[in-house]
Amino acid sequence: MEINKPPLFKVVSRWHNAMPQYTVGHLDRLETLENKLAEHLPNVYVAGASYRGVGLPDCIKQAKSVVQQIKQKMN
Ligand SMILES: Cc1cc2nc3c(=O)[nH]c(=O)nc-3n(C[C@H](O)[C@H](O)[C@H](O)COP(=O)(O)OP(=O)(O)OC[C@H]3O[C@@H](n4cnc5c(N)ncnc54)[C@H](O)[C@@H]3O)c2cc1C
Repeated sequence: MEINKPPLFKVVSRWHNAMPQYTVGHLDRLETLENKLAEHLPNVYVAGASYRGVGLPDCIKQAKSVVQQIKQKMN
């Protein structure tokens, strides 16, 4: 764009700890969590950035999967 003037103003917004950072063993822990939920709290499901992907498409995919599981259980 060939902008050669300095900006009139600037704002830096830092989002500390905004994104989950999965560590090694995450999927194993998730499997343990889901197995324990199925055993002890069978009507509780988890979905969202903490689990299987941080991006919005990942979160939507997880939500749809949970809805399918609930619908199957209700039938
Ligand atoms: C700055 C930023 C930019 C991003 N940009 C993108 C992007 O461009 N594209 C992309 O794909 N992803 C982006 N992401 C990632 C994506 O937005 C998040 O990973 C996603 O929104 C997480 O969805 P979620 O449902 O897991 O959690 P959230 O969207 O955080 O939803 C959790 C909800 O639970 C509520 N809540 C929390 N505690 C309680 C409680 N005790 N009781 C009741 N309700 C509660 C909160 O108020 C919130 O509404 C961005 C994230 C950030 C932080």
